[in-house]
Amino acid sequence: MSDQHTHVVVIGGGYAGTVAVNGLRQRTDADITLVNPRADFVQRIRLHQFVAGTGTATVDYDSLLGDGVRLLVDAAARIDSDTRTVKLASGRKLDYDYLIYAVGSTGGTSSAMPGAAEFAYPIAEFEYAQRLRDRLADLPPDAPITVVGAGLTGIEVAAELAEQGRTVRLVCGGTLAPSLSAPGRRSVAKRLSRLGVEVLETAAVAEVRSDAVVFDNGAVLPSAVTVWTTGFGVPELARVSGLRTDALGRLLTDETLTSIDDDRVVAAGDAAAPSGQPLRMSCQAAGPMGAQAATTVLSRIAGEQPATINQAFLGSCISLGRRAGIFQVARRDDTPLDVFIAGRAGAAIKEAVCKSTLWGIRREATKPGSIHWRKGGRRPARGELLG
Ligand SMILES: Cc1cc2nc3c(=O)[nH]c(=O)nc-3n(C[C@H](O)[C@H](O)[C@H](O)COP(=O)(O)OP(=O)(O)OC[C@H]3O[C@@H](n4cnc5c(N)ncnc54)[C@H](O)[C@@H]3O)c2cc1C
Repeated sequence: MSDQHTHVVVIGGGYAGTVAVNGLRQRTDADITLVNPRADFVQRIRLHQFVAGTGTATVDYDSLLGDGVRLLVDAAARIDSDTRTVKLASGRKLDYDYLIYAVGSTGGTSSAMPGAAEFAYPIAEFEYAQRLRDRLADLPPDAPITVVGAGLTGIEVAAELAEQGRTVRLVCGGTLAPSLSAPGRRSVAKRLSRLGVEVLETAAVAEVRSDAVVFDNGAVLPSAVTVWTTGFGVPELARVSGLRTDALGRLLTDETLTSIDDDRVVAAGDAAAPSGQPLRMSCQAAGPMGAQAATTVLSRIAGEQPATINQAFLGSCISLGRRAGIFQVARRDDTPLDVFIAGRAGAAIKEAVCKSTLWGIRREATKPGSIHWRKGGRRPARGELLG
């Protein structure tokens, strides 16, 4: 680099990446570029509302990014650690001194499931959610909808659509809300039943058709739209760039969130796997990880040893339509306790949590360095899992 500034490129403008760019502004001589494929921030935690027509999911980056952060609307196609460059989908190249990898997660369908790629509708990315929203707009209100996958996302989608008068079936393929405590699960089941959602707990889907789902016992039920929410994947960028990843494709880092291959590359959010033991994919973890990634880069620029992560979870929050929700309290390591807050109070907490994610990003924009880890969760030491 010919100028005196340190160039930091952050790939991915989600919860982790926006906190990271704002946190980097603690250093006034850093030249900060955020690369993101869309010109607006996507609140993924509201995509089920966007689909059901009960909320919006995009926010103007102008209201989230601190002064001096350059937003480049493009996608990273490859990271070259040797030359410290990022090749962009547009063909441009960006030089960096440090890079923060915050590409988040994806929500595709399973290629192993017959018919899913052709006929099922994922929801976990904005464009997918938009496609589903458009499809729903063409359907009569009583057309049968099947939601496959009864994790937190599947439950939120099913409840949101049912509350809007849709006919919804939720296929669990095992357990409803496996990450909740037994009493929490019972409370969710009660609310779904009140909303008229048909919950098929043990049934599993074997094939998706354009107008039906086929179950593993051979039963065929009509389904005008089949929504696919069986889990998140991650972008392939780290893998195609030759950086080591876990089996899913999350960038392997140490406990400072630094890539085990390159100390100029730091990762945060859903796409990071610290010590091969990734945190639960959530904005609850992504925001603090973004702050930590910024701190790690700032420490390295200053020639100091970066701190290690020390995340503790509070619990999980699920909306069950607009009028109810559940806040499941968890131990610091994210295992659920038999304690939860349900009903309208649960909905109010969930709404406050959603608002607080944007509030946190904006606070970091006006006061860089204000987000810290909630301390206490035990993390393995470097080398404990990655020999
Ligand atoms: C319907 C739904 C409800 C949810 N509810 C909750 C909840 O209640 N609580 C909770 O904690 N979590 C929830 N989550 C999960 C949460 O949204 C994610 O864990 C969170 O978004 C992760 O943040 P992130 O910054 O790592 O990634 P993201 O928010 O996914 O951001 C990553 C960004 O990187 C961009 N990107 C990807 N590839 C590239 C590339 N090659 N070049 C440039 N940019 C790229 C993406 O387009 C995106 O803008 C929910 C998710 C969904 C889908």
